Amino acid sequence: MPSARECVCCCEVSKIDDVKNEHTDTACITDNPGFHPLCLDTHVLKVAYYQYRQQYGEHPYHGNERNRYTEYRQFLRWCWQFLGKEVRVVIPSCVLFFLLLLSLIYIFSLKSDFLKKKPKKKKNNEAPF
Ligand SMILES: [Zn+2]
Repeated sequence: MPSARECVCCCEVSKIDDVKNEHTDTACITDNPGFHPLCLDTHVLKVAYYQYRQQYGEHPYHGNERNRYTEYRQFLRWCWQFLGKEVRVVIPSCVLFFLLLLSLIYIFSLKSDFLKKKPKKKKNNEAPF
């Protein structure tokens, strides 16, 4: 269970709010057009991890945990540009929720064909619902 300190909205953190407000129609940082390509694109994350590995060596986690760690790092880099080694910040709950949800959807899609199934084609005389 997150503490009150850990449960923050992206609007409450000035660094994130500044990035979010680069686009006026963005209510949440996850709606910003930069969020998906920077924090979710697998190619971008792969290259970001290469940079991490070159600087710090192999990360102890693998698979989804390492991917999620890289997503967090990308998000922090995007909003803060640079954090010192001992500087810790709280990632907003909306970002954590979004990344966790996508991770779960990805895992679920790998383990079943649930998301790969195409909807049945409706016949012309059927109601749309
Ligand atoms: Zn938000």
